[in-house]
Amino acid sequence: MSGNYARLEAVQQITNGKKYQTSKPKSLKKIWACDVFNLAKMEEALAKKTFKAIKKCIKTGDAIDAETAEAVAAAMKEWAMSKGVKFFSHVFYPMTGVTAEKHDGFIIADSDGNMVTEFPGSLLIKGEPDGSSFPNGGLRVTNSARGYTAWDPTSPAYIMQTDNGSTLCIPTTFMSWKGHALDKKIPLLRSNAAMNKAGTKVLSLMGETEIAPLNSSCGAEQEYFLVDANFAAARPDLLITGRTLFGKSPAKGQEFDDHYFGAIPERVQVYMQDVEDQLYRLGIPAKTHHNEVAPAQFEIAPYFEAANVAADHQQLLMTIFKLTAKRHGFVCLLHEKPFAGINGSGKHVNWSVGNSTQGNLLDPGSTPAENLNFLLFCGAVIRGVHLHGPLLRVAAASAGNDHRLGANEAPPAIFSVYLGAQLEGIYDSIKEGNLDDASEVSIMDLGLSQIPTFVKDSGDRNRTSPFAFTGNRFEFRAVGSEQSVAGPLITMNTMLADSLNWIAAKLETELASGSDKTTAVVAVLKDLMANHGQAVFGGDGYSAEWHKEAVEERGLANLPTTADALPALKSDIVKELFASTGVLTAEELASRFEVYAEVYILKIETEAKIMIDMAKTMIYPAATRYMSDLAATAAGMRELGVDFDSTILNAVADLTNDMTTAVSQLGDLLAEENHGSEEDHMQFCATKLLSTMDAIRTAADALEVEIADDLWPLPSYHEMLNIK
Ligand code: ADP
Ligand code: MG
Repeated sequence: MSGNYARLEAVQQITNGKKYQTSKPKSLKKIWACDVFNLAKMEEALAKKTFKAIKKCIKTGDAIDAETAEAVAAAMKEWAMSKGVKFFSHVFYPMTGVTAEKHDGFIIADSDGNMVTEFPGSLLIKGEPDGSSFPNGGLRVTNSARGYTAWDPTSPAYIMQTDNGSTLCIPTTFMSWKGHALDKKIPLLRSNAAMNKAGTKVLSLMGETEIAPLNSSCGAEQEYFLVDANFAAARPDLLITGRTLFGKSPAKGQEFDDHYFGAIPERVQVYMQDVEDQLYRLGIPAKTHHNEVAPAQFEIAPYFEAANVAADHQQLLMTIFKLTAKRHGFVCLLHEKPFAGINGSGKHVNWSVGNSTQGNLLDPGSTPAENLNFLLFCGAVIRGVHLHGPLLRVAAASAGNDHRLGANEAPPAIFSVYLGAQLEGIYDSIKEGNLDDASEVSIMDLGLSQIPTFVKDSGDRNRTSPFAFTGNRFEFRAVGSEQSVAGPLITMNTMLADSLNWIAAKLETELASGSDKTTAVVAVLKDLMANHGQAVFGGDGYSAEWHKEAVEERGLANLPTTADALPALKSDIVKELFASTGVLTAEELASRFEVYAEVYILKIETEAKIMIDMAKTMIYPAATRYMSDLAATAAGMRELGVDFDSTILNAVADLTNDMTTAVSQLGDLLAEENHGSEEDHMQFCATKLLSTMDAIRTAADALEVEIADDLWPLPSYHEMLNIK
């Protein structure tokens, strides 16, 4: 379907919009978590003793005994079957960042051929998905391809309802036969445990006597684009790679800022409500939704939850966004940069740590200088960002996100931490060995009697920082929209654990030497700031001066591409970090490098192949047709003795030749073999392939300006972004 037909179809569908009308609004109370086998449902279904046992395991993370598992499995099956479910699936989260499933029926037949259903505790606890089909980075050779999934009782089971039936889904971990982590959940759980252990140590040194288990929390803001499905179907690049490899910038892009916070288009609102109803059924607290900067770009932010549950929910949310889009005649694009020159999509990962006894340890309260626990935890984050900037960069690294990071819309590829003026002032005074809070509570008073005054936030926002303190949490702003939040959470929890261990050791020495708590904390933090304070930056992260200062004066790493960043996983400091905290063994870490490198290379090579196909079979034919039209016109006019200006014909001919030359260069590059190490192969993709692809695109986009609209084979940016 060419661009023109796609345009007609799209307009027809939109004007014929009844199809997209939402069903009757359902009350939140009725649908909230109705498809989740949560504690409330367990309490209803289980004997008191069993319920107490499972509740304790969920709260403390302790192991579950076989008897309890048996009872929970039976209750889970009954509940699911009462809702018409016949299949169950262990859901797991491989290293590639996707969600994977293995489905099985409850049904078995007895020896007389009668139907019986079965779901013993052993099937709930352990599954065995076909091992070798997931990337394992060398952790499993084919002759030991076994992989296991194991139930994670801390993330509740749920029913996934689709038009084609429903399935009981059980969140699980995924490991090799040897017990190596093959997923993102195992290290996330381990990182949380490491953080809990280190944090508890610090808190008890600080004299806290009652300390509940510490947990990390995450609230992720998800940006996405919606494009009419008719357009996407006409664009092999969008369908296969998730981004447009061609397309000239529209006359009107986001320059007017009129989309952001404007009214949500009707059809999109119906879609959002449909998505949100499904999220509510699954117990996912969708809270905020609005338009984003670019036309056709939107955002959703669920309310924050425990990191492990939030990570599973985030994966589920992305799945639901994609599936629901189909029903509304849309394609939901989660790619970080679907449209060149138009704002890309990120996923801000808001993160805090706390427990039920001390509360949120990243909440400074109204007098931060008096909140010693806060100062220590926040200091630990500063040290972590300084020591592990490259690792944070890895956590945000993907072929797609490279199109954002370092460009002038998204956070830079240099990791610094933004604290806001008040906190920065406090840590500055700590550098001098003092503990002063120079700031005063400031009141917003507009001088209008009808508008009540309110207390201003302690710091303004800084949109140019990749890692910013935002009042009671840190916001990891560099993460890509398509990425799993587990990677960033693992990194943040682990670097925090490491820094809290460092703090605990120092604090212990200071306190043992007879210092009082405040003096000891100031001494520890003074040392910390002297060595790591250079990671704190409150200025403009986009500016050229910062790039120079960060690298040359502060010694921070600037890693513009994934190819530059991933080798950090092989550095001693990162190996030591994961080994000492017990989050990843050396082998597990090495396998992660392999998998991430492989995914990166594969993504770019696939894009290159699609690009060649489209240039040859779609754009080249359009160009030659237009040239022969023009040439025929020129000949006809010459016959009539009328002048013909051949500027356009010549321009099209030149651009077509440019494109063809670059296409054949790209073909030659793709045919090259023996790329050497993975590091070299990644650099080859980052430099040679991508720059040749840019050359093709430059010529093709210039052709789009010249060639007749009815001959152009692809829906344009203008159509895709504005027809909704
Ligand atoms: P923004 O102003 O950054 O766009 P939003 O309200 O869209 O803010 O999103 C903020 C996200 O941060 C939400 O998911 C919210 O639940 C989450 N959040 C709020 N407080 C915390 C916290 N203490 N820890 C983790 N996440 C939090
Ligand atoms: Mg935000």
